[in-house]
Amino acid sequence: AKKGDVSDLCVSFFGAGYVGLVSSVCLADFCRKVYCLDTDKEKIASLRDLQIPIHEPLLEDKLRKNYESKRLFFLSENFELAIRDSDILFIAVGTPSRRGDGHADLSYVFSVAELIAEMLTPGYTLIVIKSTVPIGTCNKVQEFMKAKVKTPKVQFDVVSNPEFLRQGSAVENFLHPDRVVVGGCGPVGSPSRKQMETLYSPFVKDKEALLFTSWEEAEMIKYASNAFLALKIQFTNEFADFCQLVNANISVVMKAIGLDERIGSHYLQPGPGFGGSCLPKDIRALVRSAQEYSYSMRLLESVIEGNEIRKRRIAQWIATLANESCPKEDVGTFLHGHHTTVTTTNVYGKRFGILGLTFKANTDDLRESPAIYVVQELLSLGAHVSVYDPQVKIESVIRNFDNFKGFPLNICEDSYSACKDADVVAILTEWEEFRNLDWDRLHSLVSRPVIVDTRNLLEPSLIGEKGFCYYSLGRPPSF
Ligand code: NAD
Repeated sequence: AKKGDVSDLCVSFFGAGYVGLVSSVCLADFCRKVYCLDTDKEKIASLRDLQIPIHEPLLEDKLRKNYESKRLFFLSENFELAIRDSDILFIAVGTPSRRGDGHADLSYVFSVAELIAEMLTPGYTLIVIKSTVPIGTCNKVQEFMKAKVKTPKVQFDVVSNPEFLRQGSAVENFLHPDRVVVGGCGPVGSPSRKQMETLYSPFVKDKEALLFTSWEEAEMIKYASNAFLALKIQFTNEFADFCQLVNANISVVMKAIGLDERIGSHYLQPGPGFGGSCLPKDIRALVRSAQEYSYSMRLLESVIEGNEIRKRRIAQWIATLANESCPKEDVGTFLHGHHTTVTTTNVYGKRFGILGLTFKANTDDLRESPAIYVVQELLSLGAHVSVYDPQVKIESVIRNFDNFKGFPLNICEDSYSACKDADVVAILTEWEEFRNLDWDRLHSLVSRPVIVDTRNLLEPSLIGEKGFCYYSLGRPPSF
């Protein structure tokens, strides 16, 4: 390999989660060697058996190919070996919300930084923070590491390189990123800058798409992107509810506004609220860190609150529909807030068939999924809940519901068993397979033919023809 080529580089990732695993697997196509490190021994053991702990299209083949050709290694110990061998060390561990206050929990990031600092060997190493971290963290990590390094002649830089992959198409996004942001490198020709240019040379479409910024700008760009996406979702949800009150169709409205290039057509689908492992926690962390500067991000504070209210209202709405027979008049006013407490809704012993649990389609991630919230609400009211999700493993569902052991949560193998004897069927994730169910069969199985589609997945007139009371968001109900 030519000097300065990506095929010269050896890199390590700390954290074999969605970000670390996908990045390691994709970089192993190009680099000399990639180590994927995780303290979770079970996770590493299953990766070595080519069992992939997450659902991501295209990941499995690449992982197998690179693992078998010994360019990709999985380690749960002896990280020293990887640190010694690597030119670049990526920190891609979790930064969850700290319990209670919404701050990002940086303990995993700092524990990796400490380990690296203690194990660095003489010579130059580049440390890259890929985890989403509050503004100012890279600076703190660099200072912290400087204080911890004991070995003489160790040289290192810390740069920020936020990740923008989308779960469900993460491999595709990694290979063809819209842009790559690198913060805190030295000037053109400096070791940090050269290494990052080399590493990303196979991926960036043109020079413009590789942006070099300061640490703080890179950290801010990540939060600003997620905040903007959450804003678009919340914006659409507010309009959907208003559309419902005035008999307008949200799809028509959003399609038309999305044709304006300044607005763009993405992220304008109504839904049960945003969730997942990133948007809610990142916006909370952003708002919290702004507060530390005595600055209120009022727009985003209202987005957070609006989203919480939305999840609650959606749960209430689904609950109410178990008692009312096609309450035509009430649908819009309900979501808009005339009904306030779920406790007024008696759903004790009612049956709910829930289709979809993940926070969006094409992932198995349940973190902060609105569907989990809805199911929890229904269970707490004493309802019988049956769920089906094409990608969710029973063990992970149980892990998410450990407060509700003993309640009749029934995890099913397919949509039909989940909907058997249901008083209400609710679609909570936009899985493609829910579009094409055998509606006649489903109709014959349910106790009452009521469908709540919180993803606007189905065509109202078609489903109405099958004899269902059909409710969706921001579209006139159809009976
Ligand atoms: P994850 O929870 O799926 O994975 C994190 C992994 O780090 C876990 O497997 C954990 O065992 C491991 N880990 C914890 N401490 C460790 C240590 N000391 N050494 C080695 N491994 C350790 O997290 P994720 O979804 O991959 O997210 C990672 C970061 O990237 C977060 O900051 C997140 O906000 C950000 N991010 C995530 C996404 C996404 O779509 N998931 C997208 C962009 C950015």
